[in-house]
Amino acid sequence: MSDDTFGFLAFEIKSDGDIKAVAERLRALISLDLDVDGFPVVLRGTIGAAIFPDNAGTAFELLRMADVALYRAKQSNSGVGIYAGNGERFNGGRFSLLADLSAAIGSDQLHLVYQPKVDLATDRVTGVEALLRWDHPKLGSISPSQFMPFAEQTELMIPLTKWVLESALNQCSRWHAAGLRIGVSVNGSARNLHDFEFPAVVDSALRRFGVSPQWLEIEITESSVMADPGRSKAILENLRNLGVAVSVDDFGTGYSSFTYLKNLPISSVKIDSSFVTSMNVDESGHAIVRAIIDLARNLSLTTVAEGVETFDVMDSLRGLGCSMAQGFYISKPAIASEITSWIALDGANRKASSHLLE
Ligand code: C2E
Ligand code: CA
Ligand code: CA
Repeated sequence: MSDDTFGFLAFEIKSDGDIKAVAERLRALISLDLDVDGFPVVLRGTIGAAIFPDNAGTAFELLRMADVALYRAKQSNSGVGIYAGNGERFNGGRFSLLADLSAAIGSDQLHLVYQPKVDLATDRVTGVEALLRWDHPKLGSISPSQFMPFAEQTELMIPLTKWVLESALNQCSRWHAAGLRIGVSVNGSARNLHDFEFPAVVDSALRRFGVSPQWLEIEITESSVMADPGRSKAILENLRNLGVAVSVDDFGTGYSSFTYLKNLPISSVKIDSSFVTSMNVDESGHAIVRAIIDLARNLSLTTVAEGVETFDVMDSLRGLGCSMAQGFYISKPAIASEITSWIALDGANRKASSHLLE
């Protein structure tokens, strides 16, 4: 199926028990314990399974369901995943939503909005984060938190991220042509950290739009890195070798150890909004924000606080030595033309007009 993914067709399967038996035999066949110069190397496979015709009627659908099961098995480290079947198919507006999303890529249903990041030392906008918006023809506007978690369980994430990347770089090259030297950040997903092609996709998008790599940043959540740390690290290293910056998103909500962070090729951490927004009314939130800023400084990483909704919070962050801030207080995410005129205003006017943006 791909470099390290194989397809098996098993006949005479009557129950989940039959699948488990076949899957365990396969796993035993492909597992291998090696000794490489005294280091133990453990090879194991993960299996995702779906049943014809219970789960799907076509080969394409069947593979897609097996892929959903595989992804879950990997996330939970269970070795074998069986597509959950009927329950999901019945209430599964989910799959029709995914089919709609697949069709929406490249159509005018998808567009990007951009949210500025401000340097707290200079008060200047250094870059913007691209965020996806989907106007569904029947359901109206659907927020990314409603469809991203589903999309992330499928291969759809690959063309979707490519589309976001190309649109954002296209816009970035227009800004540069107009004399506005700002960078763009694009959100990546666990899927991209699994995909050895991803750095090449990034590289060709940069070339296509003539944007030099230093203007691009990829945001990756802590939890998606932890889904497969070894592979993620290799892919992040390839991105860094291209000259693209990597930032850890939603920092503080995952489980990465500080030692681990030290070994990743990243340049900044984004402190999760759940600590930032309420940091001035919640003592433990404040303590966490301060600890992350101190930690990042010791590791020579830049800190970006997200979810800044008030002047007070922005002021406290500046006092704690946080490098950058992003949030509704500064500006809501907005379409490119609004961001262009917003950045053109000077600092004082900018604050006064921030509430006009939607
Ligand atoms: P995220 O990457 O953590 O993005 C920040 C989210 O917080 C955005 O929501 C943004 O609109 C919102 N936000 C910004 N400032 C504030 C604030 O001051 N207060 C509050 N309460 N919220 C604020 P949005 O656009 O709905 O996106 C939600 C999530 O969906 C994103 O979280 C990201 O994980 C995902 N997402 C969005 N676009 C993409 C994309 O193109 N690719 C991928 N892989 N994920 C995306
Ligand atoms: Ca983000
Ligand atoms: Ca975030």
